[in-house]
Amino acid sequence: MARIGFIGLGNMGGGMAANLAKAGHDVRAFDLSQEALERARKAGCLPTESARAAAEGAEAVVTMLPAGQHVAQVYEEAVFGVAAPGAVLIDSSTIDVATARQLAEAATAKGLLAVDAPVSGGIAGAAAGTLTFMVGGSEEAFAAAQPLLQAMGKAVIHAGGAGAGQAAKACNNMLLGATMIATCEAFVLAERLGLDPQTFYDISSASSGQSWSMTTYCPVPGVGPETPADHDYQGGFAAALMLKDLRLALDAASGANVDTPMGARAAELYGSFVAQGGAGTDFSGIIRMLDRQG
Ligand code: NAD
Repeated sequence: MARIGFIGLGNMGGGMAANLAKAGHDVRAFDLSQEALERARKAGCLPTESARAAAEGAEAVVTMLPAGQHVAQVYEEAVFGVAAPGAVLIDSSTIDVATARQLAEAATAKGLLAVDAPVSGGIAGAAAGTLTFMVGGSEEAFAAAQPLLQAMGKAVIHAGGAGAGQAAKACNNMLLGATMIATCEAFVLAERLGLDPQTFYDISSASSGQSWSMTTYCPVPGVGPETPADHDYQGGFAAALMLKDLRLALDAASGANVDTPMGARAAELYGSFVAQGGAGTDFSGIIRMLDRQG
């Protein structure tokens, strides 16, 4: 069993660290929040007083932090020169592709292995250990990270070299943001044209308009499987995080000189939704804004 440093025990990291401890690993955990540290202790981790103490001598360091600048700072100040020689660094935060590549390069230069391993599956998936990991890094780094990722998820996919996991996450969530908006506006229009939402769902789910946003995560209450729409758009995936991911995708697109007009429009619309108070609402709640605009 491995000695693991885990830094960032929030909504996602808390459940992930708990699953590593449950699998029998020695998890030294750190977060700036005392409550998060207390939850980690109850879940079988050993809370530490600093990120450095968590990473000290660790064979693996997992980070689950808000953004690229937090990961870069933690690596610089608390992980490089502190983790065991040859340790594998697993960053599961959603961050920009450019920073992920720079951090992998810096880690390699220090004799460490590194993967970017962002996730899909949300808070429920983190708690249940059913996340999907999309992983960027060398074959050697992927092989070192894989057994630990397996303890926190149900699917672990090697996407390519450093940064490929973040690239996959950015592209996937750009697609998700655009299809959710398109699904919402189709439901709004269908209703205004006199169609019953359930009838439109039945037809579109079995037709060429079908998508995950329609069939699995339907934004209309009472239609399709149970989703955040059935709980007043609470829980699920916050619109603020969708906006963050869309902006990361647009940054990556501009760095690669690629035009992504649908992604750009999705970011504008989620920007408006967040500005109107929707930040903590599930991202499918944007249907309310689109409905009002009619
Ligand atoms: P969160 O805000 O709940 O947790 C982040 C944690 O990091 C907080 O507990 C905070 O105290 C801690 N932190 C910040 N700076 C720190 C530092 N320097 N040292 C130690 N701890 C520090 O966020 P979250 O929802 O857990 O998301 C974490 C990452 O996962 C983000 O990059 C997010 O985009 C991504 N993500 C979130 C979801 C989701 O549904 N919440 C889904 C997929 C991916």
